[in-house]
Amino acid sequence: MTATPTPIDPKSMRLHNLALVLRTVADGDGVSRARIAAITGLNKTTVSSLVADLIDRGLVREAGITQRGGVGRPGVTVVLDGESFVALGLEINVDHMAFTAVDLLGRVRDEGFVRRDSRGRAAGDTLASLALLLRQALERLRNSGLRPVGAVLGLPGLVDPAQGLLLVAPNLGWHDVPVVAQLREALDEPDLDIRVENEANLGALAECWEGLGRSIDDFVYVSGYIGVGAGLIIGGKLHRGATGFGGEFGHMTLVADGPRCSCGSRGCVEALVGLEALLRRAGLEPDGPGRSTPTSATSPVTRLVEAAAAGEPRVVRALADVGAHLGAGFASAVNLVGCNAVVLGGYFASLHPWLREPIERELADRVLSSAWVPVEVGRSQLPGDAAVRGAALLSLRAMLDDPGRVTPVAPGARGDAG
Ligand SMILES: [Zn+2]
Repeated sequence: MTATPTPIDPKSMRLHNLALVLRTVADGDGVSRARIAAITGLNKTTVSSLVADLIDRGLVREAGITQRGGVGRPGVTVVLDGESFVALGLEINVDHMAFTAVDLLGRVRDEGFVRRDSRGRAAGDTLASLALLLRQALERLRNSGLRPVGAVLGLPGLVDPAQGLLLVAPNLGWHDVPVVAQLREALDEPDLDIRVENEANLGALAECWEGLGRSIDDFVYVSGYIGVGAGLIIGGKLHRGATGFGGEFGHMTLVADGPRCSCGSRGCVEALVGLEALLRRAGLEPDGPGRSTPTSATSPVTRLVEAAAAGEPRVVRALADVGAHLGAGFASAVNLVGCNAVVLGGYFASLHPWLREPIERELADRVLSSAWVPVEVGRSQLPGDAAVRGAALLSLRAMLDDPGRVTPVAPGARGDAG
């Protein structure tokens, strides 16, 4: 029996082609309609009609003239429109909240960072505080003529993106929170597409798209703060596993009867290498979450870096111990998934100069294949907060994949609309 061909619905086909053309423009640095037709295999009339549609939606605009080639007349190039939409990246972490608004060209158009200890506070209170911060930002963005199109919220815990739920965030003490519904209600933005994602996954995605991932396809990204999260990039894509909860490197057991972890287990990576564990080992007082930004002069990370640079023995020893624990954890991950790089993000990135050597030593000793394929110990290439950047990029990409959900601007409302 032969399979019946699936009838192609012309509307779905057009939306598919619209996304294809938009992706081609996003991947190029100014492409002509003829070039889009050559790349996509669509005919020139169809491409012209789709480009006109994308211009009406405010997603692309016409730019300069391409160089005149050997034959034919020069074409006008098409580029993403950086003055139309912004996507929001949001983050709530143990001791801070942050947001960034990124336009289609990847430029930051607004951002904010607030120190706030959310441990033990009701999720609704923290979400309401974030909403207050965002309402002001949304107003500023709209006043600049930008249309906020979506937001992704990064949280340090297990999330269910499909249901918009936070299942558990051990370090915040939150569980079973319908975060997307609560944030949407607090924001009073019924049309804003809001999604939730694990903060370390977002950091891994940002690293994948804009950092070391441009040259490496398979790596474990580890983001260290009070908690230790991770995202696994395999074949250039985030690996979630069947449950969606894969990549919880921070809760891999390193010492079966080791110290108690926030998750309720014992001897997890996080319990041994989290920021507070490191500060205890180093004999430094945590200044308490909420009292400084991660890079401010008084932050514990800055004090650690200064003490390590000054060669303070107890701090240097603590970093060697933490590096050895991290290395042992990485070795298990590498033996299991066969990636050839690990990337240090969060506070580990600042401490890379001291952590790298002990990690490399453990990897060489414990990874069976290391004599043939050494494992690179990289440092996150992203300046600033990788999670909020990843969140904004994820939201932008969701729109680029589905341009049909952006409604066209009313005719005449835009000078450049055909
Ligand atoms: Zn744990």
